[in-house]
Amino acid sequence: MPKTFVSGALLNFNYMGERNYYKIDGRVLSTPSQDLSSEEKIAEEKNVKAFMEKIFNNGRDSVFGELIKKDEERIMIKDFDKYIRAEAISLGVEDLRQPLPGRRIHFALPGGYHKQFPHLRQTAGGNYEPFSDAIYIKKDKDMNRWKIAHIALHEMIHAYSAIRYDLDAAGELNSAKLGYNTTGIKSGAEKSSGEPETELEVSQLFLGFNEAITDLMAQEILDKHQADLSQNLNISAEEIKASPLKRYGYCAAVEWLIAKIAEKNNEDKSVVWNKFKLGMLTGQIMHLREIEKTLGAGALRLFANMGNSKEANLAVGAFMSNYDINN
Ligand SMILES: [Zn+2]
Repeated sequence: MPKTFVSGALLNFNYMGERNYYKIDGRVLSTPSQDLSSEEKIAEEKNVKAFMEKIFNNGRDSVFGELIKKDEERIMIKDFDKYIRAEAISLGVEDLRQPLPGRRIHFALPGGYHKQFPHLRQTAGGNYEPFSDAIYIKKDKDMNRWKIAHIALHEMIHAYSAIRYDLDAAGELNSAKLGYNTTGIKSGAEKSSGEPETELEVSQLFLGFNEAITDLMAQEILDKHQADLSQNLNISAEEIKASPLKRYGYCAAVEWLIAKIAEKNNEDKSVVWNKFKLGMLTGQIMHLREIEKTLGAGALRLFANMGNSKEANLAVGAFMSNYDINN
């Protein structure tokens, strides 16, 4: 499993200096800024294209224990594409990516799923992989279908989130941003003794925050379209009732944040919530400044680290109780 550390440089570690930007199929790539000669420019464009090709070539093959999609699962994917796109358009997103093709959405039996992703926890229900642009959903034969729908929708929202890949001069990945979540990758990093040679250092920012926005949006869509979904997918009210949506702890922290910002700016909570969703889908994060403006210096860092460790999560909880006591 990649080693995780909390990065010292907040927010700006992939915004340092000017960079060259490319947009391919709704995805943004950047390379370090340099005065490139025309030959170097051609070589750089080749690197960028090769990187995207690598991603598009990944993720299409079937996985261990892959299950053939049922008709109702194909309908579900189409419905979710429709709902997410409608939501994005109503928020004002202009260049939403194309829907993920069905062959990049995989359902697999638990054994096969965990063989494919040995580093994931046993409790994982699914994942979206930005480096193969594919979704994997763990599915047991008798699994509650409303639960499957929730997991599939959550992962599909990840796939629709803004993606940016920052490459180094050699065309290798330096960091990637999915929605709010920035993953910095330091290959060939200094290794401390005893660590395997191949281990990469990975730093995360806004991991828990991004999960919360993703999941709150999934819950909102499921609530809004529950009647249609239940009919289209033939899921009874009893089955829906039997699978109350599981909430991440991060969701409550983000709801708390939304309430504080709305209160300070004297606006409706939906205004703040819409900005949070929009930022995830466009990659524009200027509005996060409201967190410090509302809660003071250091607050942004606390929320950015949420999801990185138990200590980081406890620090968020302590901050919120203190704030509520003193304000
Ligand atoms: Zn997620």
